[in-house]
Amino acid sequence: MMDVVEVGLLMSNSYVVFDPDLREAIIIDAGDEADKILRMIEKNDVKVKAIYATHGHFDHVLAVREVKEQLGCKFYIHREDLPLLERASESYMKLFGEERLGPPAPDGYVSEGDIIKIGDYEMKVIHTPGHTSGSVCYVIEGAVFTGDTLFAGSIGRTDLPGGNLQMLIDSLTRKLLSLPEDYSVFPGHGPSTTIGIEKLYNPFIGIGGLYREKHL
Ligand SMILES: [Zn+2]
Ligand SMILES: [Zn+2]
Repeated sequence: MMDVVEVGLLMSNSYVVFDPDLREAIIIDAGDEADKILRMIEKNDVKVKAIYATHGHFDHVLAVREVKEQLGCKFYIHREDLPLLERASESYMKLFGEERLGPPAPDGYVSEGDIIKIGDYEMKVIHTPGHTSGSVCYVIEGAVFTGDTLFAGSIGRTDLPGGNLQMLIDSLTRKLLSLPEDYSVFPGHGPSTTIGIEKLYNPFIGIGGLYREKHL
């Protein structure tokens, strides 16, 4: 089971994913508006054991400190996005001219192939560099949480620090589009979609898309 709230000026999605019987949960991205995220947790009556970031951009991590303090949970991210995590508060300042307390240091790191237990369920980590070098997606029960790697009808930008277009296309075509077509996609911004829909209609990686590879 999952629930979502949209947070912050850049409208990023903060998801809670949980075992509906055991009520054990994790949060995927805590970008801003900790109070809104905490209300979602309370509403679903779950116990959060950790926050997992899809990547280190400020719009995905700026509420981690407060949510972590309130819930007493752990925080994980891919090691390669540590420099971005450390600059999150500075990047926010540059864009919005407002001082914000940055995210805390992570309690540990996620990497390709890691299995995360959520009650009786298992969530798998796939490393999908391109939008940032430490971008990851989380796969669980017919769903994939894609952060800023894949959106409904779009793909992540690669013009920000750490971005690499060739790597992004590689991650998308080899790792994400190879998932079953009926898998739901829950992106870091905007509405959900499915692997099948993006494989057909995504203007970048869908049929006839800008970066579509011949072998697909
Ligand atoms: Zn991003
Ligand atoms: Zn974002």
